[in-house]
Amino acid sequence: MALSLSSSSSSSTSAVSGSSFPRPIDLRATQIGLPFNFHDRTLALSTALSVSQRRHLARPLNADTNRNVSTVASAATIVAPEVLETADVALEDYEQLAKDLDGASPLAIMGKALEKFGNDIAIAFSGAEDVALIEYARLTGRPFRVFSLDTGRLNPETYQFFDAVEKQYGIRIEYMFPDAVEVQALVRNKGLFSFYEDGHQECCRVRKVRPLRRALKGLRAWITGQRKDQSPGTRSEVPVVQLDPVFEGLDGGVGSLVKWNPVANVSGNDVWNFLRAMNVPVNTLHTQGYVSIGCEPCTRPVLPGQHEREGRWWWEDAKAKECGLHKGNLKQEEGSLNENGNVGVHGNGTTTHADVFESQNLVGLTRAGIENLAKLESRKEAWLVVLYAPWCQFCQAMEGSYLELADKLVGSGVKVGKFRADGEQKEYAKQQLQLGSFPTILWFPKHSPKPIKYPSAKRDVDSLMAFVNALR
Ligand code: SF4
Repeated sequence: MALSLSSSSSSSTSAVSGSSFPRPIDLRATQIGLPFNFHDRTLALSTALSVSQRRHLARPLNADTNRNVSTVASAATIVAPEVLETADVALEDYEQLAKDLDGASPLAIMGKALEKFGNDIAIAFSGAEDVALIEYARLTGRPFRVFSLDTGRLNPETYQFFDAVEKQYGIRIEYMFPDAVEVQALVRNKGLFSFYEDGHQECCRVRKVRPLRRALKGLRAWITGQRKDQSPGTRSEVPVVQLDPVFEGLDGGVGSLVKWNPVANVSGNDVWNFLRAMNVPVNTLHTQGYVSIGCEPCTRPVLPGQHEREGRWWWEDAKAKECGLHKGNLKQEEGSLNENGNVGVHGNGTTTHADVFESQNLVGLTRAGIENLAKLESRKEAWLVVLYAPWCQFCQAMEGSYLELADKLVGSGVKVGKFRADGEQKEYAKQQLQLGSFPTILWFPKHSPKPIKYPSAKRDVDSLMAFVNALR
């Protein structure tokens, strides 16, 4: 499978093939204080080969061997990995390691990740503020690899930023491209902007998820810019390191890939403080009001006070960005991808998860119950009802705030309820109850039959209470 390492900038486009580089590369990024010229590369490579014969060396990110195309050197093949043996993913207790490293700095976490996995790990770079990961990697003084998904739909500014980052750090980003045949089929069948009509999932699957899957199949670990504060209330469980719950690594199978999230505990503000302090180049789109940056047709600036995710796929239900429900079979769907290359994948509604939203102050509605509620022209009390699925991580994440809300509303004239809307109830909920994704929260007014859908992705108790107070 090809691993094209061409820059996006026409002024510096250069396909890297085998050992032939068109220009010297200064590897400042990997040799702090010791500028490393391309001409030293032969030595570095031979050193790597002699000491690492048990390892899978210089493996390109995409390990698809079915394609008859040239394999080109990756950024990581330029330098000697610093680990001598392949890290054994299975032997480490990553839950314990995550606990041990939870209070560690991003730099220390990055250092640990690179130390453990050497050439078998790469940073997923989206072209946004996750450039901080590259800066941290540089600061470790260790060799590192960077890959990015070129969907073909990025802003020109993002391509220019990729080029600036390559030059700044003396690296080649290992771009992953979508399968041309798949893109062709999608566009020929549905046009260039089908995502505006039937949701972003299909296009994302072709342009992002599958290329990412291919990339990760060539690795044993990856590094993401996922942070807990990116989706308040929904990412509180992001550990600094974990066995990847979704993707497979080089050795195949569940648990064959380790995911490192060095900035999991860092706030967005602190990431920006770090970027400014270190004088790191940033995507110029940030100066135009963009916070979260993805593909050009699917990203827009946000206003002050808006959550960054509101600038993505804004024509869809806000929560579909996180817990997409556009397809019936989400195992096949493979989830939706965020700007860090992270994928939110959940089951198909038939799991054994314990129920959520259990409280004496909350009414569990059956199908007949909610049908009845929805039919009433006038109700004795207003109702707030969450449509949920117990397996949905976003429902789980809002459980605390929803229960607190139910407690607060006792005796207030507002009833709080829940309706499990996955499985066989899903179609009904989509058709009749405006279900776009889980969780969907509905307000049934006292004197109007039509429920009002809670429009925000903010599910903290204050935001929910503000919604209730505005309508009751
Ligand atoms: Fe397609 Fe938009 Fe997804 Fe990019 S973000 S892959 S253009 S749907």
